[in-house]
Amino acid sequence: MNETALEIKNIHFSYGSSPVLFDINCAIRKNRFVSLIGPNGSGKSTLLWLLCGIRKPQNGRILHNVDVSKMDILERAKRFAVITQKESNQFPFTCLETVMLGLHPHRSRFSSVTASQMEQVWNAMKIAGIQQFANRNIMHISGGEFQRVIIARAIVQQPEILFMDEAISSLDISEKIRIHKQLRSLMAETGMTVVSISHDIDTVSLSDDVMALKKGALAAFGPPDTVFTESFFENVFNVKAEILPGKGFFIRDNIEYVI
Ligand code: ADP
Ligand code: MG
Repeated sequence: MNETALEIKNIHFSYGSSPVLFDINCAIRKNRFVSLIGPNGSGKSTLLWLLCGIRKPQNGRILHNVDVSKMDILERAKRFAVITQKESNQFPFTCLETVMLGLHPHRSRFSSVTASQMEQVWNAMKIAGIQQFANRNIMHISGGEFQRVIIARAIVQQPEILFMDEAISSLDISEKIRIHKQLRSLMAETGMTVVSISHDIDTVSLSDDVMALKKGALAAFGPPDTVFTESFFENVFNVKAEILPGKGFFIRDNIEYVI
């Protein structure tokens, strides 16, 4: 599939007088798993907010067929699901109630939840592996369990594009891989596109494309095996990496580990 999910054209963004993003140009293809990476403060979260229309660029355009900044809020909620870096669990909802919030964009006011919507909810809980927490209060579950509730809520929205800002960062490695596989099969089933900010280079290697930012500029874009070179790690993250052809890479940076 080669259709474009998001076309990003000449994006510039500043907070007040502080410029944060400079002339970002690229296209995110439909049905790809795209990882957005870069050092802390390089502009990843800001770019994600622009891509999903929460913030508007001062210059340039982001197109999802139409200009994202001109889509109304309901239209965006029907097409995009967003998991931010600071999801709040301050209200005493159960996990099930929280996941059901994802149905909102698709429900008319005062209508009751249909059987097929309830099936969607349980399916999303199964994908996130949280059926067993359905009736637990979200204020009384672990950080990683809460992250999975938020992922289920986003899946229930049945988005064309799922945006995640470090949404799987607090999961253990086996849960990260399990969620990644589940998202992959959902992508194959529905054509969904994923844009995911992550610092986990291991799971980033599993994505279709890597989009790397350095000081607000696009430093690299492409499949992980073309982006991840020794000079890339040196230039973007200032660390020494060793590439093992056909096997991947590891970060060395002169640290000696004694086991
Ligand atoms: P990242 O997600 O890559 O860590 P951010 O997009 O959060 O980076 O931030 C990019 C830059 O913008 C940082 O220098 C940060 O301090 C600044 N910044 C982020 N949010 C705001 C804000 N609301 N107001 C002013 N500056 C901000
Ligand atoms: Mg961030």
